[in-house]
Amino acid sequence: MAFDLPKLPFAENALEPYISAQTIQFHYGKHHRTYVENLNKLIHETAFDKMSLVQIIQETAGKAEYAPIFNNAAQAFNHEFFWNCMVPEGSAPQGEIKEKINRYFGSYDKFCEEFQNAAVSQFGSGWAWLVEDKSGKLSVIKTSNADTPVAHGLKPIVCVDVWEHAYYLDYQNRRVDFVNTFITHLMKF
Ligand code: MN
Repeated sequence: MAFDLPKLPFAENALEPYISAQTIQFHYGKHHRTYVENLNKLIHETAFDKMSLVQIIQETAGKAEYAPIFNNAAQAFNHEFFWNCMVPEGSAPQGEIKEKINRYFGSYDKFCEEFQNAAVSQFGSGWAWLVEDKSGKLSVIKTSNADTPVAHGLKPIVCVDVWEHAYYLDYQNRRVDFVNTFITHLMKF
């Protein structure tokens, strides 16, 4: 079974002026597509062929011999998740998730500060995440390269991609501007 490139949940230009259509064309149309295509080639006629993305990630995590499969499966998962973390003009947490953010971070502003810090301080390529552990506790983490919370038994709630390909066309080296814009104008709960 081959994986399909999932449809974007918004039009290519829907996040302008914060993320340009050109960035989405490269990031979704080239980078995300390549992860899915590479994964399909790597798992063709292997035991991974019948597994879900999350199963493949969990089966290959931490095993050097499966690093190419893990990296492409994790990036396929992370990107599909990331597109669903954005909406034009963003949306603030409501109801249960709002209460949990207040409980674990003190306030939404404190959460944003911690999330911003994780995203800006990730050295090199990676991701920042709001995650929930098996006990229901929320925390902010950062992961390097393709690494993903689902490889560590954590449930992702929201994430931002801080690989340079996520922002370089629009923000060049200014990751902090991209992250602040994501938090203020795009992040979806
Ligand atoms: Mn990316």
